[in-house]
Amino acid sequence: MTLKDALIERIRTVGPMSLNDYMAECLMHPQFGYYATRDPFGEDGDFITAPEISQMFGELIGLSLAQAWMDQGAPDSFVLAEIGPGRGTLMADLLRATRRVPGFHEALDLHLVEASPALRRKQQEVLGDATWHDSIESLPEKPLFLVANEFFDALPIRQFIREGQAWCERLVGLDETGLSYGLGAAMEQPALVDRLTDTKEGDMVELCAAAVPIAHHIGALIARNGGVALIVDYGDWRSLGDTFQALSSHAEVDPLDAPGLADLTAHVDFELLCAATPSQFSRVTPQGVFLERLGITQRAQTLAKLMEPVQLEQHITAHRRLTHPEEMGNLFKVVAFYPEGATPPPGVEA
Ligand code: SAH
Repeated sequence: MTLKDALIERIRTVGPMSLNDYMAECLMHPQFGYYATRDPFGEDGDFITAPEISQMFGELIGLSLAQAWMDQGAPDSFVLAEIGPGRGTLMADLLRATRRVPGFHEALDLHLVEASPALRRKQQEVLGDATWHDSIESLPEKPLFLVANEFFDALPIRQFIREGQAWCERLVGLDETGLSYGLGAAMEQPALVDRLTDTKEGDMVELCAAAVPIAHHIGALIARNGGVALIVDYGDWRSLGDTFQALSSHAEVDPLDAPGLADLTAHVDFELLCAATPSQFSRVTPQGVFLERLGITQRAQTLAKLMEPVQLEQHITAHRRLTHPEEMGNLFKVVAFYPEGATPPPGVEA
């Protein structure tokens, strides 16, 4: 039995499924799910993320959060949280970089939100003591300094194609060869009324319903108790077009080909996150600009002085990958949530 067999069986019995259900099963199925069963990161894995490219990423996120903590009066007890911490690399770099910020480590309590048992074990090896949560709902009521890198892109989406004043949902069904895409009947979609003004016949929009309560909850904690959230992901303001993709061994594959064996993602609609938060939110800033403002080039030069030639070459490549507009610098964006009246964290603008 594979996940593909199970999904085919399910579709035979109950009919085509939404992309939302398909993605959720592929990523988080307890037995066969992609994240539920493996550590997918790094050169040997399926994809590589910013913290795995260079220690500078987590260090600079750490300095931005620590500065925001000081700007908000250095509360003496706060939650430092990450959602979807992967291998724990970003948090390890963040903790090391903030060791010399007076009072920061004494005041912090580490909380990690992670759905995958396999990755929780890995995070525990790297980070030691922390409190793990299945969802952000159980985070304590305290000032919250939070980071999410490539978390929201892993949440399931639905896709809709415009037909007149209504929308047809893209579904996963069956044909002679196995899993295949189909379209549901045209229906009005209350969640997409405001998209009738900026789309035309045949356009596709994506909707990540799961992101809304999460962004709302994070923003509500920050509005009530203080703090900052830094959300980094690929995507843009307002979704348009098909961004659903599957990666396996660093190559793009057909998302229906091997359910549970490839990473599935979709671009993040930052407008949706910002509309959901009751806190203030910053401008959406390209990752390259964000990292340059935080001083990545000076940091890179300092690290370079300690390096052998081979390391140095990798280090220069890493700096370029994180910041260059043709690499991750422009595709990836950063948005911050912060309380009304507070200074936005360094790297982003109000
Ligand atoms: N931030 C890390 C990992 C990104 S991959 C990095 O930059 O390297 C996405 C992470 O989110 C993984 O740790 C995955 O297990 C976790 N994740 C995905 N969906 C989740 C959900 N619904 N709830 C909690 N964690 C989730």
